[in-house]
Amino acid sequence: MTEEKKQDLVEISELLSVPHKFATGPTMGRFLSEIRDHKRIVANKCPKCGRTQLPPRIVCAACHVQVDDWIELAPRGEITSYDVTYVPTLNPLTGKMREVPYTTASILLDGGDTTFMHFLDVTDPKKLKIGMRCEAVFAPDGERQGRVTDIVHFHVITE
Ligand SMILES: [Zn+2]
Repeated sequence: MTEEKKQDLVEISELLSVPHKFATGPTMGRFLSEIRDHKRIVANKCPKCGRTQLPPRIVCAACHVQVDDWIELAPRGEITSYDVTYVPTLNPLTGKMREVPYTTASILLDGGDTTFMHFLDVTDPKKLKIGMRCEAVFAPDGERQGRVTDIVHFHVITE
């Protein structure tokens, strides 16, 4: 038996930045293109159970059949849950810290069956309630890039 030789480990901390691209695939690509090019939010609809999926997926999560039918949903809907965040966290899409507070919400768009996560323009929890209506605010023409953040946030409708 040999005696293991202990070695001090040298640790170097560095932040790596690796530019990369990834393909969205046809299903997510269509969803993002519709937002970028037409300010339309589209879901796909299962041919077997009729359920809509937003964001769309290539197969129905319930039936496991391929989903090729598309429908446009209203750019407005109902808040089904929300969280107000006060502790800054790193945004993995930008590498920058998010400004706080910010509000994320599950939103059931009119005509849809599944909720969609996005930001709200209201960060005061006293001004928010489950069931409130909200509407998508899109980035201006020429500034949309085919990202889900082409929807800047959802405006909470208070009247
Ligand atoms: Zn289905």
